[in-house]
Amino acid sequence: MRAPFTLSLVLLLGAAAPVSAAAPHGIELADLDRTVDPCSDFFGFANGTWRANNPIPASLSRWSRRWQAGESSKEKLKDLLEASMKNTAAAKGSTDQLIGDFYGACMDEPRVNARGATPLTPWFAKIDRIKDVAGLQSVLTDLHDVGLYVPFNLTGQQDPHRPVHILANLGATGFNLPERDYYLKPDVRFKEAREKYEAHVAAMFQLAGWKTKAAGDGARVVMAMETKFAEAYLDNVSLRNPAATDHNTTFTGLVAMVPHFDWAAYFRHKQLPQDVDMNVDQPKFMQEFDRQLEQTSIDDWKTYLKWQVLTWSAGALSAPFVEANFGFYGHYLAGAAELKPRWKRCVESTDRLLGEALGKKYVDKYFPPEAKARMQELVRNLLLAMRDDVLSRPWMSDETKERAMAKITTFNPKVGYPDTWKDYSAIDVKRDAYFENFIAASRFAVEDDRRTIGKPVDRGRWGLTPPTSDAYYNPLLNEIVFPAGILQPPAFSVDAVDAVNYGAIGVVIGHEISHGFDDQGAQYDFLGRLRNWWTDADLAQFKERGACVVDQFDHYLIDGGLPHNGKLVLGESIGDLGGAKLAFLAFRKSMEGKPRPANVDGFTSEQQFFIAWGQFRGDAIRPEQQKLMIQTDPHPIAKYRVIGPLSNLLEFREAWSCKADAPMVRPEDKRCEVW
Ligand SMILES: [Zn+2]
Repeated sequence: MRAPFTLSLVLLLGAAAPVSAAAPHGIELADLDRTVDPCSDFFGFANGTWRANNPIPASLSRWSRRWQAGESSKEKLKDLLEASMKNTAAAKGSTDQLIGDFYGACMDEPRVNARGATPLTPWFAKIDRIKDVAGLQSVLTDLHDVGLYVPFNLTGQQDPHRPVHILANLGATGFNLPERDYYLKPDVRFKEAREKYEAHVAAMFQLAGWKTKAAGDGARVVMAMETKFAEAYLDNVSLRNPAATDHNTTFTGLVAMVPHFDWAAYFRHKQLPQDVDMNVDQPKFMQEFDRQLEQTSIDDWKTYLKWQVLTWSAGALSAPFVEANFGFYGHYLAGAAELKPRWKRCVESTDRLLGEALGKKYVDKYFPPEAKARMQELVRNLLLAMRDDVLSRPWMSDETKERAMAKITTFNPKVGYPDTWKDYSAIDVKRDAYFENFIAASRFAVEDDRRTIGKPVDRGRWGLTPPTSDAYYNPLLNEIVFPAGILQPPAFSVDAVDAVNYGAIGVVIGHEISHGFDDQGAQYDFLGRLRNWWTDADLAQFKERGACVVDQFDHYLIDGGLPHNGKLVLGESIGDLGGAKLAFLAFRKSMEGKPRPANVDGFTSEQQFFIAWGQFRGDAIRPEQQKLMIQTDPHPIAKYRVIGPLSNLLEFREAWSCKADAPMVRPEDKRCEVW
């Protein structure tokens, strides 16, 4: 998906501490810091003691009970993979053969190390043979075939005007610092990142056998070309606007936009007819690509491409490449002190490339049907709460309410795992060739995606693998998706009290539902079409409510004093605010007509609900990672995902009997409410 898709797919993970058995009710009393007043700093109160006693592991950039649960899932995946590895009788193409050999080849570190940079030889040789733009195009096409999409990509995407149909989407890539500001802004932190990046590129070239001077010159070429691409790229806030990347284009229009690329040959190779429906995310970027095709020397393009191959495949190469790559991206940019153990990197790589084969084994063993049933019930109740909430909005006209209702009734929840599983049996996976396995599996993923173009949408596809500890909303399918990996404590447990399930996963469900009605999601109608369904007056009211949230988060500083960008985190913050409120409404409704649940250690059910949210969102985050997040992540840091929404809720104030001027109670003229 393009811009509207806000997933946190990049999990920087490492050594896991053992997970203590959760108390049956689900509230972690020992995590509370009772020296902190809940009305002053609820984040500190809810889990300050846990954070004080559980420093972030050296190989990670953030840490909480939720991250810990994600790490322990990896240990389960490791056990499954080791069992598959030992099944030497597994037939070629069977799940055990595919995942066992993939993981086994990755774990054969001596062999990977002994090969050094040699797996790159055929790729570098191809690049060296380039003599002209036609040769350059031929190599770009080969790289695209294995998923190295530079400087643009071609993927199957739902047509935002006809979401039942998959069109060919040309997206912009082109550079490898986290975001365009890193190339362009004069601030010290960006300037330093540029210097470190250029040094990193040079160091990687040297590892690949280049002499010092050539490596330094090469790094400057890479920096210059990537900077030009960054200049033509949209900024992080503009990228949140679906209209900014909505450019339906004909083949003739594309040729006019990028005349120096042989699109006829490219489409032929991709087996796409020229009259295929097509969108170009960023025409200005594509024009810059064309300019560089014409004006950048072939030698510079060769250097640029070698760098792209090198940085893209670094994780599949020998230890020096892996370590240098970690030194820049993991250590310098994200603050982790050490590399994750190899087994964990190999688990992640298998999950990334053969995720549904591994994921099926995971859910068979660890995701019982009763968990799915309980979760489906929670989703139903949250959707009912959203319906009640929308109907009670005093500022919304009946006309807009009716359209919102249509959207709520067509929400499609997916829970746990896909109904049909991807068949990876065509991938040639070998026990002794990790790099080649990586290429083969990436090639499969590209082809699997390409085949969707020009066809009706397949509603059964998933954007996350089943063991992933995350969730998402897709506005074009109007679907909310919760993989099995997130459906474990501290988010969810069939044994926990309702207050905890509603306060943790319930808020997550409400958050994903609210994405359907955030600054992006509200632009899509009940059929997933990018189409305004609001009356002008209602839209103005909605935007005014969003502006309140933007202002709130503009004032939240990370460690070190830099502010959040309220516009960048608006969608996620509307999600959290709406999510907390909807889950609370649904929870209260679930208690109607029943005897009042018992207090836990003196905490009422309402208080337990809020503690559960605070404990689920309890991340300690390294300062480097916080700096990276305010630039690249539409999610605020965890502290403000707790304090931000709860300080807007009168229900929170009431549950904790906070005074009107308490820090966790926003003054009336600054209190935000969207849903
Ligand atoms: Zn979200």
